[in-house]
Amino acid sequence: MQFPIFKTKIKGLTQDFDLNNPQERKKYFELKAGKEIKKLRDYLKKGHTFIIYLLGKKNSGKGTYSKMFAEIVDPQKIEHFSIGDMIREIDKEIADKKRKREFVEFLDKNYRGQHSIKELISLLEKRSTTAPLLPTELILLLVKREISKRKRKALFIDGFPRDLDQINFTLFFRDLIGYRDDPDIFVLIDVPEAVIDERIKYRRICPCCQTSRNLKLLPTSDVGYDPKKKEFYLNCDNPNCSCHRLIPKEGDEKGIGPIKERLLKDEKLITQAASLYGIPKVFLRNSVPRALAQEYVDDYEITPEYYYEWDGKKVTVKERHWVVPDDAKTPSYSLLPPPVVVSLIKQLTEVLHL
Ligand SMILES: [Zn+2]
Repeated sequence: MQFPIFKTKIKGLTQDFDLNNPQERKKYFELKAGKEIKKLRDYLKKGHTFIIYLLGKKNSGKGTYSKMFAEIVDPQKIEHFSIGDMIREIDKEIADKKRKREFVEFLDKNYRGQHSIKELISLLEKRSTTAPLLPTELILLLVKREISKRKRKALFIDGFPRDLDQINFTLFFRDLIGYRDDPDIFVLIDVPEAVIDERIKYRRICPCCQTSRNLKLLPTSDVGYDPKKKEFYLNCDNPNCSCHRLIPKEGDEKGIGPIKERLLKDEKLITQAASLYGIPKVFLRNSVPRALAQEYVDDYEITPEYYYEWDGKKVTVKERHWVVPDDAKTPSYSLLPPPVVVSLIKQLTEVLHL
């Protein structure tokens, strides 16, 4: 499926921004989407909400985009809600005796479906990444419970629908949770698999403070060189952390290898969601073919790759546009999150008819 390329370049605008700097990022958004941001704020201020279902492959940046959107538009009135986080919370809940009892009582009162409460708890306890998915009616019930704990907010839901059969449930979901006539929208995200692959392969994590960076795409401010291994590494630059070297997580060197099946499933899910009638859709595209970049985006909106040189004494950090093949093998640039969020803001304003 081909996603449309969104033009964030504005003719006559030559100012550069450092999009990693929060202050400059704010100015950037003001300049590129100020009018639309104001419309969205007014809409939320009047008490309206929306529900967005984020559909993108694993590691496609769903959390990054929705959190940045909330940060820019209105952090008080927008919430990012991930099914994965919710399940991890429930793991803790059922590990605690008293809370587990309350949870069982809740299920007893509210669950309707094919499984006994005992089976449900055992499914939750034995769940691992390879285990079968949790039954849809359970997920729906748990999401409903989470949402009732929060005030009425605009929601980005991440991780649901997760399977083809769950897509139909989403069509009635806002009625179920009492969001009445406020709009629901599919936000579909397209990220080349090569991008996901390198995000995983070059990921480095601090064993002490869990800071997560990327040797190629997001280094720390302190890069070292190991002459024995002949390789560069990142040092943790968190001032509150006493650790030094960030390390790869076991299995990360395989990139997308182990999640190929999942990615294929996600792809089918996105294609099916895109073909549905009656529900508005927003298309977010992470990459732009290199040959078209000049026309559509500004230079500083393109993700740089970092590379390093060692002169025997010190490391020099260098930077250039990162070129990756998209899924059709066209040499492409990957966009930094802000321009993708600009396209989200503008498309959302349109589907909400603001
Ligand atoms: Zn650290």
